[in-house]
Amino acid sequence: MNAPPIKHIVIVGGGTAGWMAAAALAKVLGRDYAIRLVESEEIGTVGVGEATMTHLKLFNNLLGIDEIDFIRKTQSTFKLGIQFRGWARPGDAYIHGFGAIGHDLGLLPFHQYWLKARQQGWAQDIGAYSLNTAAAVQNKFMAPATDVPPNSPLASIAYAYHFDAALYARYLRDYAERHGVRRTEGKIAQVLLRPDDGFVEAVALESGERIEGELFIDCSGFRGLLIEQALHTGYVEFTQWLPCDRAVAVASENAGPPMPYTRATARPAGWQWRIPLQHRTGNGYVYSSAHVSDDEAVATLLKNLDGRALGEPRPLRFVTGMRKRCWNRNVVALGLASGFMEPLESTSIHLVQTGIARLLQLFPRKDFAPVLSERFNAQTAFEVERVRDFLILHYHATERADTAFWTQCRTMSIPDSLADNIRLFRDSGRFFRNAEEIFAQLSWVQVMLGQRIVPQGYHPMVDQVPDADLRRFVTGVGQVIANCVEAMPTQAAFIERYCAAP
Ligand code: FAD
Repeated sequence: MNAPPIKHIVIVGGGTAGWMAAAALAKVLGRDYAIRLVESEEIGTVGVGEATMTHLKLFNNLLGIDEIDFIRKTQSTFKLGIQFRGWARPGDAYIHGFGAIGHDLGLLPFHQYWLKARQQGWAQDIGAYSLNTAAAVQNKFMAPATDVPPNSPLASIAYAYHFDAALYARYLRDYAERHGVRRTEGKIAQVLLRPDDGFVEAVALESGERIEGELFIDCSGFRGLLIEQALHTGYVEFTQWLPCDRAVAVASENAGPPMPYTRATARPAGWQWRIPLQHRTGNGYVYSSAHVSDDEAVATLLKNLDGRALGEPRPLRFVTGMRKRCWNRNVVALGLASGFMEPLESTSIHLVQTGIARLLQLFPRKDFAPVLSERFNAQTAFEVERVRDFLILHYHATERADTAFWTQCRTMSIPDSLADNIRLFRDSGRFFRNAEEIFAQLSWVQVMLGQRIVPQGYHPMVDQVPDADLRRFVTGVGQVIANCVEAMPTQAAFIERYCAAP
């Protein structure tokens, strides 16, 4: 016999995570479910989180959001990838571009042919064969065009957004309320547990109002009001590998046209982000408090802005890691309440998205069959640990020895799962993506190469292609990419024409 369905869902928190959950659940579950969201303007939101991954487009599509309307109202720009400056060595720069690199031939990915061409000494930098990277360095952008041949790289260019996170949350709030979500403004003073099984029964507001529910989604940010403060779930730290624990953020005036990529510049005790929006630029220095003082971090950030600072720098503190269980009893934690790694590859909002998708796949009935939460937790842990490894790679695969921070990162021991992947890549440029893993082979390939992990060889099947054909193939791909970039408008011109904010 089926247990009765859940009908009352309470979302705690109205940051990006809370409103993403509210919008998606309202859209997918419909009006048979009563969805309430509680947030406190006095507490506010974390106020950062402006760079996204390509999958956000799918999330917006699920909601039926009009892309142009969304871009205008959130002051978005387009993101083709992330530029890493000074990570392997001072003065280095490489781009982790989204989307394809070159053109796969038979069983092998393009980069295997490129590795042989590079060994022979005539290949260009790998970025010259990536439409995203080649376009990004020239500040160009064009959304997939319907009037280009389907086999042109321009027909399937992959992109994400930089946006104003507060405006995005506001946008989703309007959407969710239109779809029946009931919002309550107020501060939760107490979380009430059922005495028999410790499930959350209700949250009590300072106003005295009591909000009952069957399923609670904890989007209360770092404090983890339900998952940690009420249920004491516990936290697994990643601090031994991801030592940054603070950030200072400030917006600045735009200096020049917006670049279609996030910039992550290595600094003495961490790194600095630069995220261009239509109306301003987001900046922040993510750092290890064991290696630099807060005052020094602020000074470094302000010294390295391209435009004039708008307001005072805002400090943030965090501990890298994740909850031992993101689904505990009848509470599912999403967003910062579930954990936080690093903004380095802009994965947090994406993890909110995958968490929502996973919850919908494993949506419980009133009996909360344990097998559902067990599977949810196992999949989440796997996904997070693979992201963790990818982030560690950026810090660890460095030749930098100029500060104690970088020496620590370079010499630290790393998880076996990451060490295995580095060994395999160093041998012959190979990498295999596991199921549930966010970052695809090409992401790893670009970051490994960018961090100066040089494969000693290449796949033996590459030798089946005669040298003359190899040269024609690799050179031809480079030419196609160069022609595409030539035909693209600048990002500024594209935005001006199609989606400038009013
Ligand atoms: P919050 O924004 O903190 O929201 C918490 C909500 O809970 C608020 O509405 C608050 O009012 C409410 N609340 C809390 N306590 C109570 C209470 N007692 N009663 C009532 N309401 C309560 N992510 C990316 O994807 N890309 C990035 O580029 C990126 N950059 C980042 C940079 C830094 C330095 C940091 C720290 C994070 C970054 N993130 C980034 C992560 C991103 O900011 C978050 O994942 C995202 O904003 C979601 O936050 P949240 O909704 O979980 O929490």
